[in-house]
Amino acid sequence: MANIRLLSEETIDKIAAGEVIERPASIVKELLENAIDAGADAVTVEIKEGGISFIRVTDNGCGIDPEDIRTAFLRHATSKITTADDLDTVESLGFRGEALSSIAAVSNVELLTKTKDSLLGIRYMIEGAKEVDFEEIGIPNGTSIIVRNLFFNTPVRRKFLKSAITEAGYVAEVCEHIALSRPDISVKFVNSGSVKFHTSGSGDLKELIYRIYGRDVSREILPINEKRDEISLNGYLGKPVLNRSNRNFEIYFVNGRFVKSKVIQNACEEGYRQYLMQHKFPFLVLNINIDPLYVDVNVHPTKMEVRFSNNELISDFISSAVAATLKVREMIPEAILSEVQKEAAIDVISGESGINHEIITKDSDDYSRDESPINTEDVFSAPEPFETNRVLESRENVSQGIFVQQDLFEDKLLSYDAMQDYRIIGQVFDTYWIIEYKDKLLFMDQHAAHEKVKYEALIKSYENRSVCSQQINPPVVINLTPVEYNLVNENLTSFESLGFELENFKGPDILLRAIPLDLYGRSAKDMFVEIVDELAETGLRKISGVICEKIASMACKAAVKGNTNMTEDEARALIAKLMTLDNPYNCPHGRPTLFSMSKQEIEKKFKRIVN
Ligand code: ADP
Ligand code: MG
Repeated sequence: MANIRLLSEETIDKIAAGEVIERPASIVKELLENAIDAGADAVTVEIKEGGISFIRVTDNGCGIDPEDIRTAFLRHATSKITTADDLDTVESLGFRGEALSSIAAVSNVELLTKTKDSLLGIRYMIEGAKEVDFEEIGIPNGTSIIVRNLFFNTPVRRKFLKSAITEAGYVAEVCEHIALSRPDISVKFVNSGSVKFHTSGSGDLKELIYRIYGRDVSREILPINEKRDEISLNGYLGKPVLNRSNRNFEIYFVNGRFVKSKVIQNACEEGYRQYLMQHKFPFLVLNINIDPLYVDVNVHPTKMEVRFSNNELISDFISSAVAATLKVREMIPEAILSEVQKEAAIDVISGESGINHEIITKDSDDYSRDESPINTEDVFSAPEPFETNRVLESRENVSQGIFVQQDLFEDKLLSYDAMQDYRIIGQVFDTYWIIEYKDKLLFMDQHAAHEKVKYEALIKSYENRSVCSQQINPPVVINLTPVEYNLVNENLTSFESLGFELENFKGPDILLRAIPLDLYGRSAKDMFVEIVDELAETGLRKISGVICEKIASMACKAAVKGNTNMTEDEARALIAKLMTLDNPYNCPHGRPTLFSMSKQEIEKKFKRIVN
């Protein structure tokens, strides 16, 4: 009996799909590359459940002609090359004609596309490679591909997918790399309804790095720009302080394509050798442009690996360019001037006039100008009432001294009605505010008051679970002991309510993907580790206490400091906000925010009255 038979088309497709589509991130990569090849300058990627249940990639590119739609979903169907000769000079990201057919083989695909020449667009539905619908529809120019229910017909492969969070992380990485490879294209990435990043397409790579990896990273990067005959290099090198524990942030593109290459990797690390400790890796984003004749990108089905015809040349060039850039920057004194030296330098450079500050503030082109120490908008906006009375701190020290605060409770000073009746006299010692109210003089500590206001707002959003968090890129790996690891896992919800987004990493290590929006200069890692340490010490019963304490310390960092000038309007807004609190009279650490001195007290001091 014959045992050998031809496989069915469907089976062949599924097997082939396995080479191209490993996980949601592979689909996103293919669709993004198609969008770029289609000439789009704006692309949006949206995923749900890590892309397992839903991926949508929308572009404003050339669209697919109605006649070509069915063909586009056939294996080895491409508009990008005609013969093998074209492979040597191919400049598009795709050319194998495998992506759409592979995606359609293992999921349900909905394609919406319209070219600028057609009046109407087409909606095409294909499920597990079988056409279900093809109809005309009114849509804008461009293409939108929705992929649902990945691996619905290959359950074993579906099982190999990781958690939605992990898959979403892979997708994010793909989007980041593609966005970085094309500063001229606006890329938006939305995960489960929230925008993770949105690049402007302005063409400025530094701005792009800022938008993707955030302020702290974008502040610590150095431009690199080198050229030699058939190869050129440009991009940014992370200063050694940005060192990482893995190679995920050694990002390089060869002729616009994100690739992995041992040759490039070793060359970059060699360039950094004297600046990084062992097992530490650099942050870098490099565009390497090489004459296509020296590069073979046709190595791996997902095209991540490249081969060069002259490894040594490329490697020497890259490592010496990296080393030279780091070295030159290292010698510029601006980086090592102390505050005192800086001031002296300003004096020398600018004489009396105070100009020329640019010389010593090279970093002034970073994107941090919008960050003022006090965010008056946020803090001094209209007061919101708080419903619950929270008494979380010790109060022993509230009613010390002669000026007893309790009167304030009785008088109900801090009500809206009282607003009209008081007069702000002014600020003293850059820290305290003196307010006249009926027959009292009030003294307010601006730091304590502001801290209290911040604290209440933070507690409120913590309790309502409406804390804002920010994604951190790259995520921070935190090494934990197995005990700490369990502790963290048992308290995941509390951490989430605080604004941390955590993900299991290898072994007992965890990955910090998002952190509370308002950390105010605290390192997320430090804060997180402190909470864990305290949890470990105090045991589980006190989790809420530990968290409240952390919130208090966040509020403290956030609050306007003493010895800071504050305008009367700001003070007025602060008082208005303070008076809406149930307990406005002491800061989260128990120190008073306000005390009063009665007219009577003053008269006694002047011996106008005896009792
Ligand atoms: P490849 O990209 O290797 O050519 P694909 O399977 O990814 O193969 O796509 C097949 C063809 O479908 C492409 O060659 C292109 O002509 C067309 N196509 C795919 N996606 C888009 C898109 N977003 N906009 C315009 N055309 C597209
Ligand atoms: Mg393609």
